[in-house]
Amino acid sequence: MSYTSERRNEDRDWTSESKNGPTEADAPAYDGPAGMEPDGLIETNWETVVDSFDDMNLKEELLRGIYAYGFEKPSAIQQRAIVPCVKGLDVIAQAQSGTGKTATFSISILQQIDTSVSQCQALILAPTRELAQQIQKVMIALGDFMHAQCHACIGGTNVREDMRRLEAGVHVVVGTPGRVYDMISRRALRTDEIKLFVLDEADEMLSRGFKDQIHDVFKLLPGNVQVILLSATMPDDVFEVSKCFMRNPIQILVKKEELTLEGIKQFYVFVEREDWKFETLCDLYETLSITQAVIFCNTRRKVDWLTENMQSRDFTVSAMHGDMEQRERDLIMRQFRTGSSRVLITTDLLARGIDVQQVSLVINYDLPSNRENYIHRIGRGGRFGRKGVAINFVTSEDKRTMSDIEQFYHTRIEEMPTNVADLI
Ligand code: ADP
Repeated sequence: MSYTSERRNEDRDWTSESKNGPTEADAPAYDGPAGMEPDGLIETNWETVVDSFDDMNLKEELLRGIYAYGFEKPSAIQQRAIVPCVKGLDVIAQAQSGTGKTATFSISILQQIDTSVSQCQALILAPTRELAQQIQKVMIALGDFMHAQCHACIGGTNVREDMRRLEAGVHVVVGTPGRVYDMISRRALRTDEIKLFVLDEADEMLSRGFKDQIHDVFKLLPGNVQVILLSATMPDDVFEVSKCFMRNPIQILVKKEELTLEGIKQFYVFVEREDWKFETLCDLYETLSITQAVIFCNTRRKVDWLTENMQSRDFTVSAMHGDMEQRERDLIMRQFRTGSSRVLITTDLLARGIDVQQVSLVINYDLPSNRENYIHRIGRGGRFGRKGVAINFVTSEDKRTMSDIEQFYHTRIEEMPTNVADLI
């Protein structure tokens, strides 16, 4: 059976000598050391930045899905890439993992599909089964109020069941190249209505030698299909391939945000001895609970000890550390994120993550045992950086460590003023 037709992508040349795609001269140069640019954004030919989901002209049910999922504000890549994607332009979005690329293309797809049509309208290829399933979950969650149907088409599952699901009609398919190709060949997955083709982790996909398989799938898609390519890096081979099947793509590159201490007011409280820390914290409790605070201790045992002692004094605090089961950790994190718990005692486990960076008050009950963790505990992403206050409890023995931190980060840690509450 042949799918060759004028309408399809057979006629888009896959080799680097493509006549149709943009030429070398059109391509922005990706030279120069990454990340050296001010504000972390380099080489984009799309200048519009939309910093609220409300201003993206998204469908009401999609917006509800986004907010219900817990997103409040679009990430850097989302602020730049969703709008051109929704306009139907070919887009290359380059950003490190964890910057919100999955939600970028998921939102763009959901905005463009018509859920009253029971046909596949968007196809996403991902390098691993796990990633495909993860994308499916995000798509279903964001598209919940639209009743969008998304099927994961991956190896290692029942082929018949896959065919049944596809034939029943789904709006979006996300899968690994092999199974997707198989489903198209068996005509279980019809490509006629596919408007969007997304290649996630394009660098991974190509380095795993999926190039021919991706090509096989691509040439069976309608000729006018919109292509969105996401990649953490842009090695030459990815760039070459992209030139062959994308038409004048918008290119957006966002570097992962570096943490900075800028905008953070840093204070110390001299407690002299370890035993005095506890009373000092109790005195500060009212200040802490004005906002949401995270208290860092250096050991799990100290977290437990401090939590018990605070609770026995009737202070409401929650605790989290690596000895706890994942389920419990997720629950505590959820309570903290929704604001039902306001003071969280934890170890450095939590320091590296976006969640803590939203918090405006951090207490180092113990100074971190390595200075890198200082910035992970209290630093913020520069451009998004909210202001914040950090309070360090410092014993006589800690004085050296504190001045070491000050020197290392070229920063000043001042004595905590009595009106600290006014600064939060
Ligand atoms: P990537 O695909 O670049 O690896 P993801 O889309 O998986 O990144 O996002 C990383 C994490 O950040 C996920 O937990 C996701 O739910 C969360 N996230 C993405 N966008 C936002 C946002 N606008 N607001 C809050 N959290 C977000």
